[in-house]
Amino acid sequence: MIVEGTVLRGREFDPVEGRVVVEDGEISAVEEADVDSERIVLPAFVNAHTHIGDSIAKEAGSGLSLDDLVAPPDGLKHRLLRAASREEKVEAMRRSLRMMQATGTATCIEFREGGVEGVEAIRAAADGLDIDPVVLGRETADAMRASDGFGASGARDAEFADLREATREAGKLFGIHAGERDSLDIDPALDLSPDFAVHMVHPEASHLDRIEESGVPIVLCPRSNLVTNVGVAPVRDLVDRTTVALGTDNVMLNSPSMFREMEFLNKLADVSAAEVLRMATVNGAELAGKNYGVVEEGREAKLLVLDGDSDNLAGAKDPVRAVVRRAGRADVTDVLL
Ligand SMILES: [Zn+2]
Repeated sequence: MIVEGTVLRGREFDPVEGRVVVEDGEISAVEEADVDSERIVLPAFVNAHTHIGDSIAKEAGSGLSLDDLVAPPDGLKHRLLRAASREEKVEAMRRSLRMMQATGTATCIEFREGGVEGVEAIRAAADGLDIDPVVLGRETADAMRASDGFGASGARDAEFADLREATREAGKLFGIHAGERDSLDIDPALDLSPDFAVHMVHPEASHLDRIEESGVPIVLCPRSNLVTNVGVAPVRDLVDRTTVALGTDNVMLNSPSMFREMEFLNKLADVSAAEVLRMATVNGAELAGKNYGVVEEGREAKLLVLDGDSDNLAGAKDPVRAVVRRAGRADVTDVLL
């Protein structure tokens, strides 16, 4: 298979006119050539933090605090989840996964509530789709063993040392929320040597030093942080110190579109469009242990193809900026997963 257009090549997303050659699902060559195509070819996205289980609760709870919304066991989200049937929950998750796939997302790193049953429910939701979620179980070691790892709520109220160790022994991913509301749970989270930490809105200087020294990757969810009114992460500081990926967080709060997250972050923070696109692709892929997120030889061919001649994108002078700050689902020509 050959995909022609302006290819955003490599980690720098150098726009080159030419073609991507795909053989057996792998990129075998990226060739510069004169081609008659207005398409823009880029890596498919990695949504590095989702909770799609609350797809049944979209736009519920306007004005509630973060705790009242999502804190277990009686936050609004959990009450709505208890009230819904398994079938309703699976179907709602399936529609969110389909929406992510249609907006160019190859995988999401999902913090999956509900123990082993919750893990099985998202597997059922993803059945037959091309998007392939990385599922991190929650609550129990069995959920971790049944999934791709463990997603910890945070080191504030719960003791995760044993689960962290069990996850390491199983050779799986361990992620944890940290620094969302304040800085108090950051050191306890970093003490666990997680594979990544999510949010990091409130790091102090000592935390930033620890993050840099340990190299722990950080997943930012800037739209979620504004919806829940917890503040804005020090994006520039974090990008200067470690690997930063991007996630859309709870579906109840935000549409799981990486286009929207990228545009928002790029206009909010002092980071370049290329840095934001790296957060949305290769940085998340590396965090998840995936060999994609970059258009280069030897990578899995998970690609997003946009119509650079759509009414929205036509005439853009800088394709990377156009993708990050302007593009949306209507510009998608093809999602190759
Ligand atoms: Zn989360």
